[in-house]
Amino acid sequence: MLYHNLSVNAAGHLAIAGIDACELAEQFGTPLYVLDEDQVRANCQTYVKAMREHLPQGSMPLYASKALCFKGIYPVIDSEHMGADVVSPGEIATALAAGFSASKLYFHGTNKTDADIAYGVEQGVGCFVVDNVNELTALGAEACARGVTQRVLLRITVGLDPHTLAAINTGKVDSQFGVPIETGQAMRFVAEALKTDGVEVVGFHSHIGSQIFEATSFCDQVDRLLAFACAVRDELGFVAGTFNLGGGFGVRYVESDPEVDIAANIAAIARHLEAGCEAAGYPVPRVLLEPGRSIVANAGVTLYATGGIKTVEGYRDYVTVDGGMTDNPRYALYQSAYTVLNASRANEPANLECTIAGRCCESGDRIAEGIRIARPERGDIIAVLTTGAYNFAMSSNYNRVLRPALVMLHDGEARLAVRRQTVDDLLSLEL
Ligand SMILES: *Cc1c(COP(=O)(O)O)cnc(C)c1O
Repeated sequence: MLYHNLSVNAAGHLAIAGIDACELAEQFGTPLYVLDEDQVRANCQTYVKAMREHLPQGSMPLYASKALCFKGIYPVIDSEHMGADVVSPGEIATALAAGFSASKLYFHGTNKTDADIAYGVEQGVGCFVVDNVNELTALGAEACARGVTQRVLLRITVGLDPHTLAAINTGKVDSQFGVPIETGQAMRFVAEALKTDGVEVVGFHSHIGSQIFEATSFCDQVDRLLAFACAVRDELGFVAGTFNLGGGFGVRYVESDPEVDIAANIAAIARHLEAGCEAAGYPVPRVLLEPGRSIVANAGVTLYATGGIKTVEGYRDYVTVDGGMTDNPRYALYQSAYTVLNASRANEPANLECTIAGRCCESGDRIAEGIRIARPERGDIIAVLTTGAYNFAMSSNYNRVLRPALVMLHDGEARLAVRRQTVDDLLSLEL
């Protein structure tokens, strides 16, 4: 099995954190998002522990809410001593509704509207990650109008290509995120921020991409950010106390993906930063990281009921499921690889090569192609692993398919955290 929280029980069914997947499907219906809370906690603890051990005081991980945002995630994140990154009033409101402290929120976004800015300041968001000069000016005006000083990090583009997918690569010079160092604009951005009333610059933010497996990309990022910070110190006399290095640690979707040792990577990044600061005579800044995928992805499994096998003679076998791109658009967007199991026959050999197809009227509605699972019968439960990140969060009502429920597993018990959407929910917006 890909993960240690998966097993096969006496009934021959897949068990997630010891709980029978077929019974979960029976009790809560399908499709169903299942999130192993204990795995989320273990992932959080890896970050918190390694960052406390290797980085200056005040360093901590911020959960990137966009990976999976619903009320139930925030008490977990909070009790594991993490902050959170949010990108919209919707994410802020969700965190606040769950009792998460506004002061531990970092507000991202490339194009925050005036209303977004006003909402964030009003709610007392701890820190804005300011993307560009337009936002800086608007935020300064808003803070002044309210008589407050807003703490900010400035989003800097370091000009790195960590060789991941173009769609999730955000650190290149030519990108809509942040302000580039290479063109000289980042220096002017900092100079402008330092003289903007209503904002207090606490440091720099940079995010280079996602699904990154090696520490070297992060070390290159540290080099560039530190060189920039030194140039800022020399030119403007400002010393940054915080480096936010963004998210992006990779996770395993299939057996052939490398295992990522997050604690070792953090240690390596910390050593690299310390050595660089020592050489440059720069005080070691506190570090923030923004893991999203690596906190929730491997804690999630999606369960579907199959409509059976549809054979196109001479071509291939399709196994149809009662969900698809509406609950998991990642294959349609990025051709992402997934590990798929027949949860009803978890100890039978994977003897059917097939394509897993969703229910939408869209030929791209697939979850995986050319994979092998135990030959299913109509009604078998199909489990797709590693769906905790960017699945629920990216779900849609295309074809008016209803959004699945989400259950959380903790201490051997399953609890409904998000109920299944109903047709009435869908129609409730329409006049
Ligand atoms: C997407 C994103 C993250 C999270 O990335 P993961 O790959 O999920 O860890 C963190 N910070 C920023 C700014 C992002 O855009």
